[in-house]
Amino acid sequence: MKPAIQLNTPVQYLKGVGPKMAKKLANLEIKNVGDLLYYFPRNYIDYSKIQDIKNTRIGDIVVFCAKVISISNIKTRKKKFVITKVKLEQVSEQDTKIAISAIWFNQPFLQNILGVGSVWYFMGKINYDFNLKEKILLSPTFEKKSKIVPIYSLTYGLTNNYFRKIISSITNSEDLSPILKDFFSKDILDKFNLVSLSDAIKEIHFPTSDNRLEESRKRLSFDELFFIILKLALVKKENLTKKSTSLQIKKNTLVKFVKSLPYKLTNAQRKASWEILNDLSKEVPMNRLLEGDVGSGKTIVALIASLNIIRNGYQVIWMAPTEILATQHYQTACELLNKLNITISMITSKKLKTNNSKFKTISDNSKLKNELMKQDLIIGTHALIQKGCKYKNIGLVIIDEQHRFGVKQRAALTQSNNLNKQSDRTTETSLIPHFLSMTATPIPRTLALSIYSDLDISILDEMPKNRKKIITKLVDPVNREKAYQFVCEQIKNGRQVFIVCPLIEENNNKQLTNNIKLFDLDKKSVKAEYEKLSKRIFPDLCITMLHGKMKSEEKEKIMKDFLEKKSDILISTSVIEVGIDVPNAAIIIIEDAERFGLAQLHQFRGRVGRSNFQSYCLLFTSNLSIEVRNRLKKLEKCSDGFKLAEIDLVLRGPGELLGKHQSGRKNLKIAKLTDIITINKAKSVVDLIIKQNIKNFPIILKKLDEENFLHHLE
Ligand code: ADP
Ligand code: MG
Repeated sequence: MKPAIQLNTPVQYLKGVGPKMAKKLANLEIKNVGDLLYYFPRNYIDYSKIQDIKNTRIGDIVVFCAKVISISNIKTRKKKFVITKVKLEQVSEQDTKIAISAIWFNQPFLQNILGVGSVWYFMGKINYDFNLKEKILLSPTFEKKSKIVPIYSLTYGLTNNYFRKIISSITNSEDLSPILKDFFSKDILDKFNLVSLSDAIKEIHFPTSDNRLEESRKRLSFDELFFIILKLALVKKENLTKKSTSLQIKKNTLVKFVKSLPYKLTNAQRKASWEILNDLSKEVPMNRLLEGDVGSGKTIVALIASLNIIRNGYQVIWMAPTEILATQHYQTACELLNKLNITISMITSKKLKTNNSKFKTISDNSKLKNELMKQDLIIGTHALIQKGCKYKNIGLVIIDEQHRFGVKQRAALTQSNNLNKQSDRTTETSLIPHFLSMTATPIPRTLALSIYSDLDISILDEMPKNRKKIITKLVDPVNREKAYQFVCEQIKNGRQVFIVCPLIEENNNKQLTNNIKLFDLDKKSVKAEYEKLSKRIFPDLCITMLHGKMKSEEKEKIMKDFLEKKSDILISTSVIEVGIDVPNAAIIIIEDAERFGLAQLHQFRGRVGRSNFQSYCLLFTSNLSIEVRNRLKKLEKCSDGFKLAEIDLVLRGPGELLGKHQSGRKNLKIAKLTDIITINKAKSVVDLIIKQNIKNFPIILKKLDEENFLHHLE
């Protein structure tokens, strides 16, 4: 007897798939039946939405119904290939007949498939044949029936038809419901208006109507969001069972410290600090995200928390995404905490540093490194979690610009603690350090609540009072000269200027250039701008450049020189996005600004306006579309990072906000993080299931188990 198909049955055993095809499918990471059923079409062609070809223009993609009038296979003499030319006739509603030709290359067999006199539905792009001086269709696809047809992302040797064939061999011949056991009971499905899983999967591959396709999309999105939110909820629940060190709030020390600062804390800073201190005094490890716009003063909040930890006798480790940022935090910390007799060190992959000492290279200094790992406050890059880093007793882990680190690194940091090894070995529970992550990416609350729902959130929604509004202007290309004159004047007055370009250098990749040349004739690159500005526009000024391909020492030196006013203009890629503080910089020019999201542009803008000087942000774009200009103009009026992020979220989706590794979560094939309605539904069901105890939901548990998630929790 043929064994029943299951989700983990290798595709090789399906009808029509042998070892050879299985290999090709494996290139798309399709190994078993489950992978195949969850390989969703990337698009659909709706052959039922037919158009009149009379009204179409060159470049349009059209769907129409037509009769085959004649077919000829023409062999070209020189190049030895066959052109199949088919004359078609569309019969429109008014009974007028419109003729158009379609051609295919090297598919002579089409002659037999299409057949003169038969009627088909075609979809293709209208091209113009310069020889024949007429519109033609180039390699259109065609179908016998006016249905919605799925289009898959393919790889060499696989076709859409093949996908449809092998998927239909499962969906047609088997009852899907025993294979795809639904995660949810009928009650839940009904209550939340969801179609069954097997119907959804069938419909996503073989849609029967727009509406039903939409329903199945909703159901499959729901599943994806449900599992993300469920996992975060389980992590959170698990965290609540963990023990951390409950710390005293050292009120006197903290009050004295805050009084010694050169400024008064904003109310938002006070509130956030209080929320954090409160968490630290609990026995459950803190898991908090501190969100605040660029310049809202997150650093000092983190330092207040650090001071409290240190005065309780524990260590703080603080991880930044770049060496430049780590250095800046290190300097700030030294300035503010040195007088309190706190030992501070910095560890990056190449350098070690401690209060007032010079940089040292690591290779001959493992002893020093061991020493540094015992200090009160240890600031650094990823190097902090390299193998062999043994700390004494971490009480708090801080991660700056946390969206740049994945969830895994978060876990690595909290696990790198060896508190538990030193603590009472007889107790089962291990002590977990408190965790604070900080981000200037203003993630709208709704979104943050779902994708960071394992974290509590504090928000700095208030700027320090002394800030002047940064004057922002979208500059018309004809006014570029004027802008340069303005730059010159500002530099004469002693200010400095940032220029941001999207690329490092002109793209030399042949294939890419062809495409780019067509569309973005003149994208600004750091190197080309550097050449142009230093040779032609500002030959008398000192101009430097910075980009991600430079060695980190080189970057460091250029930043340091800029900070010490040794150069007037710094041309850079987006590497300057996070955190560097150069108070004397008063202008930032952003080239090809349309290439960036509003939230990111706002981050760039935050590089200036860090002192009492009036600062300016000048945006350039060569894109003349009204939409692009309107989007960029939003920056002129709005200086609220959260509002800009909301606009981004609607206009460009969450990828812009979160960076690829978070937004492009592998498990989000179909769901959108902007789909707040489905997110809320998923959240309700997660709450319900946790309340009724997840142990009562074996199919959900099995899925978590397959993904090794339960193991990860243990
Ligand atoms: P971010 O939130 O972007 O990390 P920082 O912590 O770097 O911001 O703070 C930006 C600047 O604002 C720093 O120079 C800092 O000293 C200053 N600052 C922080 N808090 C206040 C405040 N309450 N009043 C005035 N200046 C402040
Ligand atoms: Mg910061």
